[in-house]
Amino acid sequence: TRTHSEQQIALAEEHGAHNYHPLPVVITDGLGTRVTDVEGRGYLDFLAGYSALNFGHRHPGLIAAAHAQLDRVTLTSRAFHHDRFAPFCAGLAALAGKDMVLPMNTGAEAVETGIKVARKWGYEVKGVPEGRATIIVAGGNFHGRTTTIVGFSDDPDARDGFGPFAPGFVTVPYGDSAAVAAAIDETTVAVLVEPIQGEAGVLVPPTAYLPELRQLCTGADVLLILDEIQSGLGRTGATFAAEHSGVVPDMYLLGKALGGGVVPVSAVVADRDVLGVIKPGQHGSTFGGNPLASAVGNAVVDLLRTGEFQERARVLGEVLHSELSALLGHGVVAVRGRGLWAGVDIDPDLATGRQISEDLLAEGILVKDTHGSTIRLAPPLVVTEEEIREAVGALGRVLAAR
Ligand code: PLP
Repeated sequence: TRTHSEQQIALAEEHGAHNYHPLPVVITDGLGTRVTDVEGRGYLDFLAGYSALNFGHRHPGLIAAAHAQLDRVTLTSRAFHHDRFAPFCAGLAALAGKDMVLPMNTGAEAVETGIKVARKWGYEVKGVPEGRATIIVAGGNFHGRTTTIVGFSDDPDARDGFGPFAPGFVTVPYGDSAAVAAAIDETTVAVLVEPIQGEAGVLVPPTAYLPELRQLCTGADVLLILDEIQSGLGRTGATFAAEHSGVVPDMYLLGKALGGGVVPVSAVVADRDVLGVIKPGQHGSTFGGNPLASAVGNAVVDLLRTGEFQERARVLGEVLHSELSALLGHGVVAVRGRGLWAGVDIDPDLATGRQISEDLLAEGILVKDTHGSTIRLAPPLVVTEEEIREAVGALGRVLAAR
C-alpha cells in the first residue's frame, strides 16, 4: 500500500503539468525554518522558496499584516486608490533610495515591466529611433519564464520549442565588462544583469564587474537594471547585493521576498526621470499593488528597515560559508556565494546534485539542485547557527556515505 505522500505525488503527476520535478516530499505546514510533511516528519527548509521566504515561513508580523488586511479590503484594482498603496510605495522607494515604485506580482512581470520602461525611456529620453532599442543581457541569465524573457536565455530547457522570440537583446558573457563595453552602441537603452546569478549556480562576478558596468552605463547614457529578485532584500547580508560593490543601479527589479512568502509581490523601483516615462493607460496589472499585497509588502519593508535580517545574513553567512569550505575535497569541489546563499558543486564522480538533494531529504534537510552537479543553500534569514551546523553536518554525512 502506498503512503499518503506517494498517493499525493501520484495524483499530482496525473493531473498537474510536469513543469517541475519536485523532490518527493508533500508539505503541509511551515513555521520559521521548519516544515512538516503529510506523514508528520519535520524538515529544515534550506531553499526558502527560492528566497521568497527570507523571513521564514509565516513570519508573525507578516501574517498579522495579512490577517488585518483580509478583514478590511483585498482588491480594488488600480481603477481606484486604496489606503495601503501610498505607504507601500513610499516605504519601498525610501528603502531603495529611489523616487518611485511600479508594483506588479511576479518576478517575470517586474522584468517585463523593466524592459518596457527602459525601451520607452530610450525612445523618449535618450532619443533612440523608434523600434530600434536594444538591451544587453548576460549569458547564463535567469530572469523568468515569459516568451520575451526565455528568448534571451541561453538555457536550452528554458528556451527550446518556445519561439519565435522578441528581438532587441544582445547577450554577452557574464562577469565580462569589456564585452559589455564592446556591445554598447547608440541603440543600447539598458544593461540588464543579476548582481549574483542565482539559477546559474550562485555565481558571484569579479569584484570590479558591477562598478565597471555602472561606469560604462553612466558614460554611454544607458540604464543599469539590476535584477535583485533573488539576490535582494537581505539574502546576501545587505538590502541589495549591489551594495557590496557600492553600486546603485538606475532600476531595481524586486520580487520573491517582497511578498514575504505570503502573496506574490514584485516591483520596479527607479527615479522619476526613468519611471516617469510611463503614463496612465500605458502599463498595468489587475492585481499589481493590490491592498493585500501592499499591506504585506509594507510589512516586509518595515522588517528590512531595521537592518536586522541583513545583519543576520551577513554574520550567519560567514558561518555557512566557513562550514561549507570544510567540505572542500570531501565530495565538494567548489563553494560560491555571499551571505546566507551558497552554490555548492558536488564532485560529479560522486553524485548528481539531485541525488545529494534526495539524500539530504532523507536526513530532513530540504535543498534543491541546479545544473547537474550543483546544489544551492538559501535558508530563511531567521535560521540559527545551530541549524546551519545541522544542515551542513548532514551534507557532510551524505557525501561521506556516497
Ligand atoms: N529573476 C530572478 C533573478 C529570479 O531568480 C527569478 C526566479 O527564480 C525571476 C526573475 C522570476 O521570478 P518569478 O518566478 O516570480 O516570475
